[in-house]
Order: sequence, then C-alpha cells, then structure tokens
Amino acid sequence: MTPTLPVTQRLPETFAFSQSSLQAYSDCPRRFWLAYVEQLPWPAVEASPVHEYEERMRQGARFHRLIERAEIGMEPDVITAGLDHPLDDWFAKYQRFRPADLPGDVLEVEKTLSTPVAVAGRAYRLAAKYDLIAVEPRRRAIIMDWKSASRRGDEGQLRRRWQSRVYPYVLVEASRALPWGPLAPHQVEMRYWFTAAPSRPVTLPYSDALHAANHEQLHALMTEIVSGAAEDDYPKVADTPLNRKRFCAYCIYRSRCDRGEAAGDLDDLADAEEFFAVDPAVALEFTLDDVAEIEF
Ligand code: SF4
Repeated sequence: MTPTLPVTQRLPETFAFSQSSLQAYSDCPRRFWLAYVEQLPWPAVEASPVHEYEERMRQGARFHRLIERAEIGMEPDVITAGLDHPLDDWFAKYQRFRPADLPGDVLEVEKTLSTPVAVAGRAYRLAAKYDLIAVEPRRRAIIMDWKSASRRGDEGQLRRRWQSRVYPYVLVEASRALPWGPLAPHQVEMRYWFTAAPSRPVTLPYSDALHAANHEQLHALMTEIVSGAAEDDYPKVADTPLNRKRFCAYCIYRSRCDRGEAAGDLDDLADAEEFFAVDPAVALEFTLDDVAEIEF
C-alpha cells in the first residue's frame, strides 16, 4: 500500500464506475475506500450474517440464471427439471406474471453496457449490467430488474437509488452505438419486478429532464469520488443511531470501523442487496472484456 498515491492511481486498471460503487460512496465514503481502493476481502468475523446473505444471494443468482434461460428461449420443462423451493415458486411467478407489454423485437439478456466519462481530466467508464433490456428498435426500451427480496421495494427508495439513475442513463448513452439505437430518454423505462409482489412491479419512466439532471449529478459525484487524495478524504458515515442501524449494521466492515457488535436482521431490509458485503472480485466486476466496445 502506498498512502501517498492519489486515488486515481490506486484504483485498478479495470475499474469502471457502477451503480454499486456510486451507492457505496453515497452511503458511506469509507465503504468505497475499503472496498474499491483498498479492495479489502470479506472479514471472517461476521460470519453469520454474511453466510445468510450469501445464501440469499446464491438463490437470487440461481433465479436470475433460470430467467436468463427462459428469455433466450429454452423450454420451461428443461429449465424447471429438479427445481427446489423457493426457486420453483419464484419461477412459476415469473412465468405467470412476466409483463405482457415488454417489446419482443430485441431481448438483451444479462447484457453489460458502458459509456465513456471524462472525470477530473481522466477517462473512465460508467458501466451497468442489465438483467433484461426489451427493445423495440429506435422506439422504446424497458429495462427489467428481477428481484427476489422478501418484500416489494418501496417506490420512493428505489427511485433514489443510483441504480435507477445509472441504468437508464447508460442505456441512453450507449444506445447511440448499438444496432437497435439510438434511444431518447423518454423512450426508456426502468421496471423492478418482485417475486414478493409479481403483479405489482415498480415502474420508473425516464425523461429528457431526468437524463440531463442525472448527467450533472453523476459527473459531480464521480468527480468528488476521484478527487480525494488520501484515506481521510473518505470518512466514515456520521456516527448516529440511525446511521448505525441503516448502514453499519448491514456492512461487512462493522468490526473494523468499531460500529457495533450486532449485525442487522436481513428480514428488516427491503432489499437484500442493501446489505453491504462487496467481494472485491464482484466489486470490480467490470473488466474491459465484459464491457461492450464503445469508442472513448
Ligand atoms: S461499518 Fe459503517 S462506517 Fe464502516 S464502512 Fe461500513 S457503513 Fe461505513
């Protein structure tokens, strides 16, 4: 570790901004520092919640693979052979409640897109990995995000999360170089679908005004993130009872930060993805090979 090096030189070559890294910094700048700059592995000591989290994430990942197979046209009988609970139930809900209004001309499944961004005089990428983009070329696109959390997400909370801004922003920007693009912001919609409420997805329309606002906010945040010179520029979130409950109780760095003994109950989280347990291999999930080639 070389403490004098600026953050821009300590981030790995493959680093791309993503909704995960932006959300980590927004929630607690120290999280970003520990996960993305120092790339600290998961501490062993908070094993119990991490194991529970891992199990939920494993189930969620399996669910996504089932949907991926269905979306690329595999026969349902083949997909569901030998499925155990709750995956059989989740997949049945997907089959029954997959939104009927999704365009079917182009289906991009588990697709990673990125757009170049110039931040503080350097070239970076802002990347997003999509569960499904259903496209009617040059007319409209619906971004689907399948969620297997135990509760339906709150619309206001989802709207505020960086995912809801990064996904449509990157899609609009990247679509200019794609065969089915370009798409204007008002032709894009983000939709969260829940196993816990499969007939009631949360729909977030996008617009030219939101795109312009996102552009400003994203660049301001990315500039702030790379402007730090040392660890002190990435402070812990303020130590208040609310922040401990909301952030530290669900963070793998809790012991390291001396922010309480007890882990939060995963059932109290609206979305298990809010549990902060970034595995560096996952945190730095975008390599240049993953990202669709778009000119800088
Ligand atoms: S434990 Fe709290 S202060 Fe430490 S990185 Fe996590 S959220 Fe930030």
